Amino acid sequence: MAAIRYAARNSNVPRCIDLVQSISWASRSSTSFTRSIFSSEVQEMQTRLVQHQGEAKYQGVGGHRGRWSASGRREYTTSSAVVPKIVFLGPPGVGKGTYAKRIAKLLGVPHIAVGDLLRNEVKEGTELGKEVEAIVSQGALVPDETVLSLLKNFLQSGSADDTTTGGGEKRETQVLYDRTVKSKGGYVLDGFPRTVNQAKLLSEFEQVNLVLNLYLREDVLIEKCLGRRICTKCNGNYNVADIYRPADEVTGMPEIIMPPLSVPEGCEEHIVTRKDDTEEVILKRLQIYKEESDPLENFYRESGLLLDYEITGGIDHTLPTLSPAVLHNLK
Ligand SMILES: [Zn+2]
Repeated sequence: MAAIRYAARNSNVPRCIDLVQSISWASRSSTSFTRSIFSSEVQEMQTRLVQHQGEAKYQGVGGHRGRWSASGRREYTTSSAVVPKIVFLGPPGVGKGTYAKRIAKLLGVPHIAVGDLLRNEVKEGTELGKEVEAIVSQGALVPDETVLSLLKNFLQSGSADDTTTGGGEKRETQVLYDRTVKSKGGYVLDGFPRTVNQAKLLSEFEQVNLVLNLYLREDVLIEKCLGRRICTKCNGNYNVADIYRPADEVTGMPEIIMPPLSVPEGCEEHIVTRKDDTEEVILKRLQIYKEESDPLENFYRESGLLLDYEITGGIDHTLPTLSPAVLHNLK
């Protein structure tokens, strides 16, 4: 503890980040007595961390957010079960869908992409599907109320609970990283809500208990998007970007290692770059995302639900820290 206090006092914040993480997790699993002692230390360091993040500047990409930081303090007892109701946010190319699916599988809850729900309705030719088809064919956006009522029906009819998630095993309750998780009624929402209005409508019938905001440095994000390839034979998605950035002690930027994913044999000669994966298009896409998501992030940050999480490596590197961060921040 003394070493940590020393580090915190000397504002050696980057090095503290991992300590803050491990301590806050350790403290949450210990007794309430030690937890209260630990939490003041952790809180002090988190304050310093936020101050540091506020000061930190990285040329070209703005402030560095740190490995993860939550917008609200969470209190829980290890004995009470939590039903995960999670929203995933993140810019195009960050790997949101992949992480959302993996976390849903871990928690034993369905992964829900609202776009898929809409497409399904259209495919099955339901009343709502026909309505949606008519709207989309005119080039208009499906109204928020329509999307929300679809989602509400899906969740409340129990259809969501019947959805199998990537082979994820459905259990009544399970203990994950010291938290008791109840799968039934839970979900991971991928890419929805996208606007504050949608978030407000959602809150009228669902109490989301975590909003995970995935973040990747912009220069890395662009390089990653430029590395995207598709296989014209099997439609598989691959990424050939081989990304490395050294840590920067001055700004506190963490080291980033993202090795390419190997393309399976037989696909190699068929992989091509998507036509819209040019730097110009990617930058525009990111700009649109930022304008759309900033108010939404603020809305959830003010609600104390937002968890900023910076991706610094591949999925095998990220999941071991992302998973406990999710579990320990479910409100
Ligand atoms: Zn292929």
